[in-house]
Amino acid sequence: MTTEGRATTGSRDGPGSPEPPLGELRDALSADALVTDPGIVDGYRFDRSQGAEPGWPCAVVRVASTGDVQAALRWAGRHRVSVVPRGAGTGLSGGSVALDGALTLSTERMAGIEIDVAAQVAVAGPGALNGDIKRAAAAVGLWYPPDPSSFEICSIGGNVATNAGGLCCLKYGVTTDYVLGLEVVLADGRALRLGGRTVKDVAGYDLKRLFTGSEGTLGVITEVTLRLTPLPPPQCTTVATFADPVAAGRAVTAIRTRTRPAVLEFMDGTALAAVDRHTHMGLDPGCGALLLAASDIGGSGGAAEVEAMADACRDQGADYVASTDDPEEGAQLMAARRIAIPAVEHLGSVLIEDVGVPLDKVADLVAAIGDAAQRHDTTIAVIGHAGDGNFHPLVVFDGADEAATARAWLAFGQVMEAGLALGGTITGEHGIGTLKRPWARAQLGDDVLEVMGSVKQALDPLGILNPGKAW
Ligand SMILES: Cc1cc2nc3c(=O)[nH]c(=O)nc-3n(C[C@H](O)[C@H](O)[C@H](O)COP(=O)(O)OP(=O)(O)OC[C@H]3O[C@@H](n4cnc5c(N)ncnc54)[C@H](O)[C@@H]3O)c2cc1C
Repeated sequence: MTTEGRATTGSRDGPGSPEPPLGELRDALSADALVTDPGIVDGYRFDRSQGAEPGWPCAVVRVASTGDVQAALRWAGRHRVSVVPRGAGTGLSGGSVALDGALTLSTERMAGIEIDVAAQVAVAGPGALNGDIKRAAAAVGLWYPPDPSSFEICSIGGNVATNAGGLCCLKYGVTTDYVLGLEVVLADGRALRLGGRTVKDVAGYDLKRLFTGSEGTLGVITEVTLRLTPLPPPQCTTVATFADPVAAGRAVTAIRTRTRPAVLEFMDGTALAAVDRHTHMGLDPGCGALLLAASDIGGSGGAAEVEAMADACRDQGADYVASTDDPEEGAQLMAARRIAIPAVEHLGSVLIEDVGVPLDKVADLVAAIGDAAQRHDTTIAVIGHAGDGNFHPLVVFDGADEAATARAWLAFGQVMEAGLALGGTITGEHGIGTLKRPWARAQLGDDVLEVMGSVKQALDPLGILNPGKAW
């Protein structure tokens, strides 16, 4: 692994069949599932990451049932065709990017949602959008907490396959903490049912956790059973700005030491300026960084908790601090944070980082990101789920300029290396995909990769599932 490492799509790593018999596949699937029109297929080649070159699939299948998934995988195994599982294509690491000659399997049609109020569970098809599950739960007074910023556009199957995080995960946990059960189709077409609707279940190995975060390399998720909770009280929110982003990093650690925020987000001046250009909210783009923290304890306890967060910010040199218990105002600030990635994407080409560090190392990471930007003469806009120690430095560059592109990749690598040196991870929630592959060995090591290889071999001996992705 070097800082010069670049992501590659993995078609060369997987099996291939020059002319797979698509007629046979069409006959095995439900009506209209098989798509070969290049104009439509093109729409399934990319995810939301930049930096990995997509291939051309032999076809796309828009599966409508578990039976369709089984038929597609059995066909793929017979003809040694790689399969790229795909949810909504909002991934930021290249996980669902198409491979040359492979079959892209889209779950968008499997989007049913059933809420069991008494058992406090949701049962959803993999293509159901996170936001639709939240709305269905809220309609009966329940809550599905994991909230990636992309919740309105990403699928629950993709969330499980990446073990997605989000804004409220520091208090409420990530996707895996809500997965009670899964149906998964293996590479050989067998459908496994794992877990179920019980809150506790320790019968056998916890295989659902193995598939959670497996990035489409071990099986295709065809049904998800999720734990729901009662809705929390409305949030109180506090905002603080700092001249020095590193001081904001220190405030994150201080807030976490004293309180248990429901949200604790970070945006640096570059990200704020980009967001402000879109929202015209007057977010003070002149500052070095902004922290956005929220309490959902409710009542006077909530007001006291945001005041403790505000005090922690003042102690670390914040030059402006304000709090509100108006849920509408708080929601507007959260919405501004959620659009930070699309806003920064307007500045140029973007390589999206996802490093995570222990909570006491947040300020060190912020400083290291600044060093990487300076050393490689590159703009890095920094946003992050700071309360989790999980940051998304967005390396912005002119993709038409070769030298600038090379410097951006060097900065991208340096940030990951800095995260590892601080005892952290190259990816806190987006997954390795193709983009972070060159750095996976540095974090995981030879022995872990060998054990992962044994698991892969046991579940997908032909190597047809998402080859060249994840590790
Ligand atoms: C603006 C923006 C903000 C974002 N914010 C966040 C955030 O706050 N937190 C966060 O975690 N992520 C975030 N993301 C990233 C992305 O939305 C998540 O990774 C999401 O979980 C991907 O879901 P998807 O349905 O789009 O999956 P896809 O991109 O289609 O696929 C992602 C991976 O999952 C696999 N996969 C998909 N469906 C299945 C299935 N049914 N079975 C097996 N494998 C499958 C694919 O092969 C691929 O490896 C953001 C993205 C955008 C564009």
